[in-house]
Amino acid sequence: KLVSREFKKEDTVIDIKGVKIGGKELAVMSGPCSVESLEQAHTIALKTSAKGSKILRGGAYKPRTSPYSFQGMGPEGLIYLRKAADEFGMIVVTELTDPRDLDIVSEYADIIQIGARNMQNFRLLHEVGAQEKPVLLKRGMSATIKEFLLAAEHIAKEGNSNIILCERGIRTFETYTRNTLDLACVPAIKSLSHLPIIVDPSHGTGRIECIGPMALAAVAAGADGLMLEVHPNPDEALSDGDQSLTPDQYCEVIDKVEIIAKAV
Ligand code: PEP
Ligand code: MN
Repeated sequence: KLVSREFKKEDTVIDIKGVKIGGKELAVMSGPCSVESLEQAHTIALKTSAKGSKILRGGAYKPRTSPYSFQGMGPEGLIYLRKAADEFGMIVVTELTDPRDLDIVSEYADIIQIGARNMQNFRLLHEVGAQEKPVLLKRGMSATIKEFLLAAEHIAKEGNSNIILCERGIRTFETYTRNTLDLACVPAIKSLSHLPIIVDPSHGTGRIECIGPMALAAVAAGADGLMLEVHPNPDEALSDGDQSLTPDQYCEVIDKVEIIAKAV
C-alpha cells in the first residue's frame, strides 16, 4: 500500500510555501469553524499569526447536520479567508464537500480538507487524488484505523501522496463529549503509515474545558500538529461556538503546547 510504512520508511514531510507538515515543527491549523465575514477572518488571522501560527483554517462550504443551520458563505468565504491569510503570510486550509467546487476551492486554498462525513466519499477522494494540492483527510466518525488508512489510499492511488491525516474523534456510547478523541490512533498510525497525522481536539471533544488538555495530550502522543477552532466572540459564532476558543484562550493553549512539544 502506498500510504504504508512498509512502502516508505521515512516520515513524509509536506512543504507548502515553506510551511512544513510532518517534520520536527508542530503544524497548528487554527481559525473559525465557519468564515463569517472579512473582519472575523482578519481578526483571527491577526491574533493567531501573532502567536506564531502559520496555517489559517475556516469553512466556506459547511457540512451541517441540519439543513436549517448556516451552510457557509461559499465563494465569498473563500475570498475572505485568502485575503486574511495573505495579509499575515499564512497558508489556507478549507473544506471541499463536492467535486463541482474543486476548481474554486483550489484557487483559494493551499490545503484541501476532506471532512469526516466525506471520508468514504470515494469519488471525492479520487478527485482530490488526481490534483496537486495537499489534502487534509479527517477520520470518519465511525471509521476504524484501517478504514481511515484505506481512504487515504484511495487518494494516493490517484497520484497524490501529499496527505495529512486528522484524528477528530469517533462516535462512541459516551455523549457528554461530542466525540471520543482516539489519541491511541496517533502512535498506531505512526507505526502503520509514513503520513503525517494531526489531532483536532475541538471537534474531538466539543467541550471548551477539554480542548487545551487534549491538545497537550495529542502532542505528547506524537501528533504532527493540531487543528483548533478559534472565534473572537464564540457566543455569536454561526457554527461550533461551544467549542471555539477565544484568541486569549488560544494563546494560553499554545503556550502550554510549546512546552510539551519541546519535551517530546
Ligand atoms: C470542520 O473541520 O469544520 C469539520 C466540519 O470537521 P469534521 O469534518 O471533523 O466534523
Ligand atoms: Mn466546526
